[in-house]
Amino acid sequence: MKAALHVGVDSPLLIEEVTLREPGPGEVVVEMNAVAVCVTDVLATEGLTLVPPPFITGHAGTGIVRAVGPGVTRTRTGDRIATAGSAECNLCYPCLQGTPSSCDEIFGGMVPPREVGVRSDGNAVYVDGGVGALAEFMVLRESGIVTIDADISIEQASVLGCGVISGLGAVFNVAGVQPGWSVAIVGCGHLGLWMVQAARVAGARTIIAIEWDPARRSLAADLGATHLVDPADGDPVQQVKELTGGRGVDAALEAGGTTLAAEQAFAMARGGGVVVPTSMAQPTDSITLNALDFGVGAKRISSSQTGGGHLKRDIPLYAAMLENGIIDSTHIISKTFTLDDVNAAFSAARNKEVITGVVRF
Ligand SMILES: [Zn+2]
Ligand SMILES: [Zn+2]
Repeated sequence: MKAALHVGVDSPLLIEEVTLREPGPGEVVVEMNAVAVCVTDVLATEGLTLVPPPFITGHAGTGIVRAVGPGVTRTRTGDRIATAGSAECNLCYPCLQGTPSSCDEIFGGMVPPREVGVRSDGNAVYVDGGVGALAEFMVLRESGIVTIDADISIEQASVLGCGVISGLGAVFNVAGVQPGWSVAIVGCGHLGLWMVQAARVAGARTIIAIEWDPARRSLAADLGATHLVDPADGDPVQQVKELTGGRGVDAALEAGGTTLAAEQAFAMARGGGVVVPTSMAQPTDSITLNALDFGVGAKRISSSQTGGGHLKRDIPLYAAMLENGIIDSTHIISKTFTLDDVNAAFSAARNKEVITGVVRF
């Protein structure tokens, strides 16, 4: 079967034949139908991962189960599934503490890396983040997949385990946005546009979208933003304060992918408000916060891994919300690619030429 193989930071992804191994205990073989390209996948190919090359990247996708290994209980051959970047084993310490989005299986997919097959030269092939969805077939852990019954498109199913669960979950689970709240979202793309919709669904009265790109700002307005802030018009923190009577917002969520966006989100939350950073920075990056505001601002800072979600609880709900039109992916999934065009899909995600690009098999 063909897969998009990362062989080193100086090489583009190679479309190569990989011989997949048989599923082991608790594993299934999935014929992949589509994969949503996430900046996390791009960063992995730039070296921001614990997995050594050669590896197959891609963490959010959808496909059909074609074989099940021993001990698989929830999943049957023929099931349509979605996969996400964080598995949940329901057995490890974080899972038992009610925080399965921090399941030990995240690192169990990276250290030691999961080997899923061999290249034509006989050398082992690993998968990034324990998933490796950018392949025609993949051996996946049952703990990291969810069966999808909702009548939604393949493209919609592919984004469930990425922007949808992370964006909606950041608002519902992590920030805990309540009806009537004011909410600011710093960065309205692949993730932020789902946050805008979640804030609307949660009943926020004021939803401020902060975004440089005019097309994305206008899409944010279509999806529920009540106020649009262009950073080119001046300090976004000041603009948000002006829109909220000088107080700041009840919840500020960062989806801009920069340390500056995280600093701005902290500064624009009101005293006693909630701040949710979500972006993956480089290991050497730091952020600077005002010490007085940090010390006595009584702000709750709660970062977000996979939207603080429970895969098996949340993904079916979000799939049903897509099916019923409560949330909309129409303009968020802005381009589809073939597996042979995977490098174009990655550079489009890297350069923000698409909101979400989906690779279709
Ligand atoms: Zn676990
Ligand atoms: Zn993602």
